[in-house]
Amino acid sequence: MKITNVHNLPAPLFDVIASDEYRKSGRFSSSELPSPPQMRVLKLRHDDEIVKDASDFLWLIQGKSIHKLLEASSGTNAPTGPAALDDLREKELVYDLGDGVAVSGTTDLYNGGVVDWKVTSVWSFLLGGLKPEWEAQLNTYAWLWRRHGYETRDLAIYAILRDWQKSKSGAGDNYPPIPFMQIPVPLWPDLQAEGYIRSRVAVHLAAEELPDEALPPCSLEDQWAKATSYALKKRGQVRAVRVFETREAADASTTPGTYIEERPGKRTRCEEYCDARPFCHQFLAEHPELAEPVPDAVGSQTEAPY
Ligand code: SF4
Repeated sequence: MKITNVHNLPAPLFDVIASDEYRKSGRFSSSELPSPPQMRVLKLRHDDEIVKDASDFLWLIQGKSIHKLLEASSGTNAPTGPAALDDLREKELVYDLGDGVAVSGTTDLYNGGVVDWKVTSVWSFLLGGLKPEWEAQLNTYAWLWRRHGYETRDLAIYAILRDWQKSKSGAGDNYPPIPFMQIPVPLWPDLQAEGYIRSRVAVHLAAEELPDEALPPCSLEDQWAKATSYALKKRGQVRAVRVFETREAADASTTPGTYIEERPGKRTRCEEYCDARPFCHQFLAEHPELAEPVPDAVGSQTEAPY
């Protein structure tokens, strides 16, 4: 991947971003397994051609900085957990499935339970709840710990909410009172985790054998697709009275002083996050208006690997 500096970030900041490299052990990381096979294969195959701007990585290095601080702290002031186990931070585990295929994962904290720190937005939790890929990621960590002789009591995400606003706390909508949330994650039985991991490895390996144009298409869920919706709003008010799935239903509910705001649907991952987009036949088929190759530095933001 080539990294540009279109926005002239200061040299020290650019250097930190350009020199930062995520290296994984094994063929499949725990965060990679849930990803769509088409996206993973295209990113691997076209890594040398992918161009991104340093500004895309600013949130990522903020998250990494917090992880580094948490890793470096001694843990002696930790309120719970045996002291010896508090030392198991940023521990990378690898397990060989055979035939040269290894699965790896780096746990932020193991204290009898598995904890994953995430630096993320408030709305990713309030709107989306627990993402299936995060549940799978943490259960892959637990599976790896079991393969190394450690049982896991429970799983949790500790989320630092980077865009939390004091003015919104206490305003309802379950808005968190502080910029931190602790989210429990369901712990899968070992058989379920093993089945999940082996099946995801199998679909990724099968995809590696296919040419770009024959890769398995991403599902709407993979694409983080949102359908077009219709918000019924009162004039002079920001919040919608109600949001409808169809124009007809919204039209039937209008009253004097209200109007309909169309909220166009989108495939958020494809349009805003996916580095594989310039090489993706599915994306071009679904967006014939973009028949020309997509210009440099697409994927205006970067998916955090945490
Ligand atoms: S651009 Fe969309 S369809 Fe193509 S690989 Fe990325 S997420 Fe999948």
